[in-house]
This record gives sequence, structure tokens and C-alpha cells, in this order.
Amino acid sequence: MNRMPPPQALAAGRTLVAVLLVTAGCLLPQAFAYEGSYPFRATATVGMVADIVREVAGDRAEVTGIIGAGVDPHMYSPTRSDVAMLLRSDIVFYAGLLLEGQMTEILAKVGRSRPVVAVTERLKQADLIHTAQTGHQDPHVWMDVSGWMKAVRVVRDALTGFDPANAAEYQTRSERYLLELKTLDDYARKVISSIPEDQRVMVTAHDAFNYMGRAYNIEVMGIQGVSTESEAGLKDINRIVDDIVRRKIPAVFVESSVSDKNVKALIEGAKARGHSVRIGGELFSDAMGKAGTYEGTYVGMIDHNVTLIARALGGDAPETGMQGKLTPPR
Ligand code: ZN
Repeated sequence: MNRMPPPQALAAGRTLVAVLLVTAGCLLPQAFAYEGSYPFRATATVGMVADIVREVAGDRAEVTGIIGAGVDPHMYSPTRSDVAMLLRSDIVFYAGLLLEGQMTEILAKVGRSRPVVAVTERLKQADLIHTAQTGHQDPHVWMDVSGWMKAVRVVRDALTGFDPANAAEYQTRSERYLLELKTLDDYARKVISSIPEDQRVMVTAHDAFNYMGRAYNIEVMGIQGVSTESEAGLKDINRIVDDIVRRKIPAVFVESSVSDKNVKALIEGAKARGHSVRIGGELFSDAMGKAGTYEGTYVGMIDHNVTLIARALGGDAPETGMQGKLTPPR
């Protein structure tokens, strides 16, 4: 059973602040503007969100991410020190759409005394993918770079509302970052479309890639559902093995934040039926790579994913990616 409050409960807790911040901008009463010293303290849940805040806020904010490399946000319960950190923050950002399902309550609580902003809050129905299985929207919006660019604009506007004195800086930095993301979006489209059409299908540990599939025209199959909370059954595995064997799919992918147990079961299942399929590599689905590396940034994460997928499925992409910065596979 799901004991979490419905998403509306959280929304209600922050609506007033978010609406003021995001839509009112310069209409904020003077008393609302940040008046402390710099850097102010910004906290973000997942790395992909923390990365946007770092890019847009620059030196104005000291940004801390709570959910690190290799950690699954669907199942993440905040620790006592996370809670203390959130309560010390001047502003908080999270992905939303119930990605951080176990943090709903604490985010609502923290939102009573400071801005708490969901970066996906301005996405429209048409931007989102509805999941019949969970009855919710699929939260993995960052897998489509153009969708994530909308999140950058939400962060820009939230920072502008919070700290209007530095609005021009947030504008300049977000414009520069959006240009970089546009280049990334073009690269992703180009390399995925180079995969021969009958092999343009990616099998992964959980359903994190629906937005990538829609944006870049590649079929996706996840063994587990949209949230890792659901267990994969033998029937799901057998069904995907059938597809792999029938369509002679050459590679399947593991994910850095999800166990590889089910993917290995697929490979064994295909082998028993005379089809050899290999692990095409490890994708970053819900967490970025190690902090301090190129793969530990949003751009590096997506560059890694699309480059690896294209190369493993017979497409054409340089081994070191879009800008020669990827660590080649060992
Ligand atoms: Zn996920």
C-alpha cells in the first residue's frame, strides 16, 4: 500500500510560495527578497536537479545534492542529516512527479518556511507521459533534453524571484546553459537515429527511458516498471526474452542505480534459447556519474547514455562522445 499523501497535498504546501516565485517575479514584496550574505544555501534532491542549480546560480549559491551517484531516488528515505540540511537551506529544489516519493512529507514541511520548488512544475500534460501502471506521470523527464530545458527555465525564474538583485546573472547563465543543452539535444537525436531501424530498441533494468524513446525515436523496454518499487515477475522477463530472441537484439543495458539481477536473467534466458545478447554497458538512469567527473554532470550523463546506446546497437557515435570528454569503456 502506498501510505504517501497524494501529490496534491505536497502541491498545496508549496503552491503559494511557488506561484509567487515563479509567476510573480518582480511583484514579490521587498520583504521576500533574499537579504543574507552570499553564497546562499541551496539544496537539491537528485544530482540532475543540483546540476541545473549550480549552472544557473554560479557562485551565488552553495549547492548541495542529497541523493548521490548510484543511489535510487524512488526508494530513497531522507536521513536525519538530510533533514537537518534541508532545514538549514535558504531554497530547495526537487524533481517532482513523485520521483522522490519517500521525501514528499519532509519537502512539504520544509516548504512552510522557505521556497521549495519542483523543477517539473511547469510541464504541461502534452509534455508528460502518463503511466497506466502507476496511475501517475512518468517522472524521468531529464531523459529528453528539450523537456529538461524547461526545468532550467523554472530554476532561473525561481532564483530570480528569490534573489531579484542578481536577476541579470541568472538570466545570462541560464541562456548559456540552454545553448549547451540544445547542442546536446541535437547530438542525441543524431546518434540515436544512426542506429539501424530494426535494432533501434533498448532493453533496460527499469522503465526510465520513455522520454528518451519519445524524443529520439527509439523503442524502450524496461524490465521493472516506472518506479523501482514494483517487482519484475517471471512473466515480464519471459516476455522480453521472447522479443530479444525474435528480433535478434544484440545488447541490453544495466543501470548504475538499479540491481543488474533482472538484466542477467534476460541474458541467461536468451542464451538458453540459442541467442547470445550482451550487456551493452551501464546507463545513468536516475543518478549521474561520480561527482567531479564529466559523467557526474547532466550533460556528461546524457552524452554517456546516448553514445553508449548508439554504439552498442550498431549506430555511429564517437567513442569519447559529443565533445571528446567521455571516459572510454575499459
Ligand atoms: Zn527511475
